[in-house]
Order: sequence, then C-alpha cells, then structure tokens
Amino acid sequence: MIPGPIEFEPEVLQAMAVPTASHIAPNFIEVFGNSLELMKKVWLAPSGQPFVVAGSGTLAMDMAAANLVEKGDDALVISTGYFGQRFKDILECYGAHTTLLKAPIGEVVSLEAIEAALQQKQFKVVAFTHVDTSTGVLVHPEPIARLAKKYNALSILDGVCSVAGEEIKQEAWEIDVVLTGSQKAIGVPPGLALLVASQKAMAVWQNRKSPVGNYYADWSNWLPVMKAYEERRPSYFGTPPVNLILALEISLKMICEEGMAQRVQRHQTLAKAFRAAIVSLGLAMLPQSDTISAHTLSAIYFPEGIDGAAMRAKMVESDVIIAGGLLAEIKATYFRIGHMGSVSSNDLLAVLGALERALSALGHPVELGSSLQTFQESLIQDA
Ligand code: PMP
Repeated sequence: MIPGPIEFEPEVLQAMAVPTASHIAPNFIEVFGNSLELMKKVWLAPSGQPFVVAGSGTLAMDMAAANLVEKGDDALVISTGYFGQRFKDILECYGAHTTLLKAPIGEVVSLEAIEAALQQKQFKVVAFTHVDTSTGVLVHPEPIARLAKKYNALSILDGVCSVAGEEIKQEAWEIDVVLTGSQKAIGVPPGLALLVASQKAMAVWQNRKSPVGNYYADWSNWLPVMKAYEERRPSYFGTPPVNLILALEISLKMICEEGMAQRVQRHQTLAKAFRAAIVSLGLAMLPQSDTISAHTLSAIYFPEGIDGAAMRAKMVESDVIIAGGLLAEIKATYFRIGHMGSVSSNDLLAVLGALERALSALGHPVELGSSLQTFQESLIQDA
C-alpha cells in the first residue's frame, strides 16, 4: 500500500511475460504507436508530443529541464515537499537561476505569492508538483498554469504521483509539460519515464541557442523515434524496454476503458472515504485541509505516543506494507498510504482493519470497526 510502485493489474503483468520482440518488429511498432496515441488521451492533450523513454520519473523531470532550460535562464519552482526541492536541484544542474517558493509543511503556496514572484522577473519556466508524495499535498494546476502563461513562462507539472489518478486536462489548462513515471497511477512496473510536451514547449526547445547539455535526455535524439513510432515506422536511438511498453499499452487501454472522468471520480471517492475513516480514529492528516489533500495517497501523522516503527511492524504482521515519512523535517512523525491505480474499496477496508488492530495493540484507544463503518458510510453517501 505504498505510494508506488503500486499493485499492478494481472493483465498488465501478463503482457510483460512474453518473448521479447525486436524494437523494430511490426507488432512492437504498432504497440509503441498505440501507446503514444493513448497517452494523449490520458493526458487530455490531443496535440501534445508524447515521449516514452526507459528511466524513472526523475528522468522525465531531467528531460523537461535539460530540453527547456538554458544556462542563465530564470526558473520558478513551487514546492510543497521533497520533490519540489528535487526539481530545483535538477534545473540548477542545467544552469538555471532558481527562485524557490516553499509552502509551509502541509500547505500550498498562494496564487498571490506566485503572481508576485512572476512580476519580479521574466521566468523561462515555472515548475510545480501536482501531488507531492512526501506530504500528500495536492496543488490545483490550472490557475498556476494560467499565471505562467500570463507572464509568458512555460509551465512544467511533475505529475509523477498524479497522472491517471488526479484530474489533469493538459491542453485545456495549457500546461506545457506534464510528466510521470510508470509505477504509480499509470499502473506499469517501474522503468518508464513518460512525458507529454505542448507544441509551444517543442517550439521553445527548437529555438534554443545552446545545445542540450544531456546526451540521453536530448529531444533531438528522441523526437525522431517518437515520430517514427507514431507513423508506424521502425526507428532507433536507444533500445526501448520492449516488455514494459507492451505492459504500458495494456494499462493505458484499461485506463481509457474506465474513462478519465470515472477514474478521477473513483480516486476522489475512495480518498475522501479513507480520509474520513482516518480522522474518525483520531489521527490527523498532514495536508491542512480537504481541498489540498491528494486522492492518490494519504499522509497521516502517527497519534501522540505511538512508536511509528512499531506501528508499521504491526501492520506488516497483517500483510499490509505502508510507507514511512519522507520529508526530512518531520520524517519520523508520519506515515503514507497509497491508494491509486487498481486500488479498490476492499483493499482499503483491509488496510483500515489492519490499522485499527495495530493501533489497538499499541495502546491507542480504538473502537474496533469504527473506521470501517465511517469508510463505508462515506462510500454509500457518494454512490
Ligand atoms: N516526483 C514525485 C512527485 C514523485 O512521487 C516521485 C517518486 N516518488 C518522483 C518525482 C521521482 O520519481 P522516480 O522515483 O520514479 O524517479
């Protein structure tokens, strides 16, 4: 139940368990081409340029920064946790001068503060995290993307913990880059960096004055490959992880069959019920309000007097593995539970049962079954 890698659908795993085709085999070319088309549907970016490259989510961040930033460019980074800091580090790697707007723990940066920063200088890019997996804080991307556009900056959304789980309308909201990794709500084992760039972002890259300072991430190497697969032609730059891409096609098809609106709704309904259940146990959520609480994971403070490591160990006895804290400042004080992708209400009922037993065993007062009742009532109310 950690926030990625998540549990994968059996069909997705089965798609990997086949003989590895050549990356120029006609059937594989078709699968790659289909995957790129399906990405545009999931990202809601019909005219976007998709990229699928072997690597983790961090490579997708690296690719956005390497291709869009030149030495000396100004970059605004809006941080709601650990991964905001990572984006700052990556942008600086490519010579950007960064301005970091850091939200207090469990909060978001106000739109006023963002606009005030944008008025200070001409930023080339505004980078922000949709769901910071370290805090479970959800940022609403649309108004930030609109502000970036108003001030003529490119918007880059780290959607590693949100794409295919939270609502994203890349094209309608005019977000220039939306990136993720395969192992979260996309529902494919780790190993794919996934990114969709707007035509505006592609034009900014094309008009660069200096070469891209990263060989593997350079779009000059990857764009012809993506274009070729989209046109169902063989191509090569670096050998693609063939079996992962077979799995990607299956997972994207399943996501599209569920429908983006329904999928987002399912994540919202489950997250809301889960939050209500957690609060009913007397535990506090890390995000300071419901409107900024992620639907892909929950970050929760351990109750006063409970030893976190002991609680997690107790849950392991019930076969439930949860994640500890990630944000250095408060690492030992909270835990995280992922609920994205193929997660069901049954999974979360099992988690709540295990959590109640663990808390009870450690002396936290729990009325057994109470959080399961709250969870179910919320689901029934929202049905
Ligand atoms: N951004 C966010 C919001 C993440 O949650 C993660 C991974 N937890 C990353 C970036 C980095 O992705 P990866 O670990 O796949 O490199």
